[in-house]
Amino acid sequence: MAAVKTDHAVFISVGSNLGDKLDNCLRGIAALTESDESSILGASRFFRTSPVDYADQDWFVNAAVKIRTTMAPLLLLDKLVSIQQQMGRKADAVRFGPRVLDLDILLYDDWIIRTPRLTIPHPRMHKRAFVLQPICDINPSIIHPVLGQTVADLLSHLDDEDQRVIPLENQP
Ligand code: AMP
Repeated sequence: MAAVKTDHAVFISVGSNLGDKLDNCLRGIAALTESDESSILGASRFFRTSPVDYADQDWFVNAAVKIRTTMAPLLLLDKLVSIQQQMGRKADAVRFGPRVLDLDILLYDDWIIRTPRLTIPHPRMHKRAFVLQPICDINPSIIHPVLGQTVADLLSHLDDEDQRVIPLENQP
């Protein structure tokens, strides 16, 4: 008898600041669900967001999606890396610098994972308005499994005034 695969709920952040940013994000989201291992359960609005960490670059377009997947965390990470490479992202690009497509695993059920390749919850998600606001669009009550606070609380207590997160005027 074949093993039954379990469904997991995963939040993924999607971002781009090179080329047609919105189209890159939409293509990345479509690629996430091209196999029947994953499907979309929810999606945020798209936002224009100011760059964080490496400020000398163009603004980003960011969103988040919630997916259902039977993929284990490291297999899902492999899938994200391969989608980013197919979309033309260079493996040796500047860290936090310009990118055609950035896909990160934010939350995987309520799991806590710390391996050399993968940290979940994403280690910087609680400091980033461009991640917290999109998750809040989907579900503001989701609890960060390490910090024990809702994403809405984390967003409301961010004290970094420089982070701009503005809904796109023309949502797709
Ligand atoms: P970045 O350039 O910031 O997108 O970092 C990509 C690398 O971060 C990947 O090759 C992963 O090995 C590593 N990484 C660690 N935790 C995560 C995560 N939660 N989601 C995506 N990548 C992660």
